[in-house]
Amino acid sequence: MDSWSGSCQACGTEGGPLMKFSLGKDFFGRPYDRLSPSSDQNPKWYCTLCSMHKNLHRDFRDIGAEFDKLGVGHGSELSKGDEFRRASLRLQEIMAILKGTQQPSPFLSGHDVALLMERLNTVTMPV
Ligand SMILES: [Zn+2]
Repeated sequence: MDSWSGSCQACGTEGGPLMKFSLGKDFFGRPYDRLSPSSDQNPKWYCTLCSMHKNLHRDFRDIGAEFDKLGVGHGSELSKGDEFRRASLRLQEIMAILKGTQQPSPFLSGHDVALLMERLNTVTMPV
């Protein structure tokens, strides 16, 4: 059966609706690896709020990983001006959401997001 009868695997909330966290695409439109059979052995179940935070975390992680690639001169999605702009906007959005929620994200701290935004700001935006 495709359901989890326990509690949210991030915050431990019980009794609420839980969602299996498997998303089709990552921030850059690539297939999200949890969907591949080898990495979907342990699907996670999250409550509504944690799913939302997990989405933010996933985008943050994707952007961070591409930024690292950019730094070492590997092919990076962020070498495209459009993606770079989209990523910086997304970080601002994530920051705004983190500031706007009362419960801290179980996955992501505002400090980490601020750091990545700073790092992005040190790079000249590709055109
Ligand atoms: Zn939760």
